[in-house]
Amino acid sequence: MSRFIDSRLGALEEYVPGEQPQDKKYIKLNTNEFPYPPAPQVIAAVTAAEVADLRLYSDPTCKVLKEKLAARYGAEPENVFVGNGSDEVLNFAFMAWCRGGAAFADITYGFYSVFAELYGIDAEVIPLKEDLSVDPEEYMNKGKAVVLANPNAPTGLCLPRDTIERVVKSNPGSAVIVDEAYVDFGGESATELTKKYDNLLVVGTFSKSRALAGARVGFGVGDKELIRDLEKIKYCTNPYNINRLSLVAAAAALDARAYYDEKDALVAETREKAQKELRARGFAVSESKANFIFATHEKIPGGALYEALKARGILVRHFTVPRIRDYNRITVGTPEEMKTLIDNIKEIINGLE
Ligand code: PMP
Repeated sequence: MSRFIDSRLGALEEYVPGEQPQDKKYIKLNTNEFPYPPAPQVIAAVTAAEVADLRLYSDPTCKVLKEKLAARYGAEPENVFVGNGSDEVLNFAFMAWCRGGAAFADITYGFYSVFAELYGIDAEVIPLKEDLSVDPEEYMNKGKAVVLANPNAPTGLCLPRDTIERVVKSNPGSAVIVDEAYVDFGGESATELTKKYDNLLVVGTFSKSRALAGARVGFGVGDKELIRDLEKIKYCTNPYNINRLSLVAAAAALDARAYYDEKDALVAETREKAQKELRARGFAVSESKANFIFATHEKIPGGALYEALKARGILVRHFTVPRIRDYNRITVGTPEEMKTLIDNIKEIINGLE
């Protein structure tokens, strides 16, 4: 770092993204990317003419994409914000509504604590229950913003919509941000509640269930005043936050619902099968409704399993946080990738005996 950096920023602990190796080819089950390509319509939409138009700025209002998102979620375009990945939506939400503090889980998406620190927000970190589930009662009547990932990451565990509604209802004086990055793999979305409650922002992404992680498109659905707040920050930082090609790709993805519904269901089916096989090999596995599996085995520390798999060309995600350091988070790949994973895990575990 240079000697010019603001000392408060210099001291921040950064978010560490999962490895994106550029050297050798791994079976990549570490960053919850989709195992299948984007829909053929998406690939066809990114034409040479669209590339040629890159000389022009993108639409700062994201009109077409907002209209399609609104139609998809039964809202109006003024209820939709589009961000550069859901990370940007979450970033703006922390900036906008968390001055008075924010409550979130100890084991959840790692960016929440980074944003809290970045903006000097007083964070109330609420431990998950012993079984790693969220205790919703702990999020009622907080008098500060509440941030919940549902399904949670990296556990994959979900709260039902009526429980989310109770949390939202009990916090009328603060924003409740529900991060639904993984909802399409088996969770229950709270987007319909945004019509009833003006303090709820539901955050979604094209990175997971729509195979567009590299395009960086996320969104928020909520009351139009909440959306105005996010727009305000966008127009104070980066009005052209979504590039032209990503706008085109995301809009085409919304037109390809049948393709994604089928592939999302296939990922969910592959997850169920792999979870069953891991349990049969002695793993404790959480009841994930996301596109990843969260698993631990009493015979091998999480870090050792991660290293052994990496040496065999398979990347999974290991977190060093003490409470979950014996777990690994394994993204659900294709059935073939999961077979290779499980065959390798069997060999590793058998080698211990
Ligand atoms: N929320 C959760 C819970 C996530 O796991 C991720 C992915 N790392 C994100 C949000 C951000 O995803 P993106 O910025 O790609 O939309």
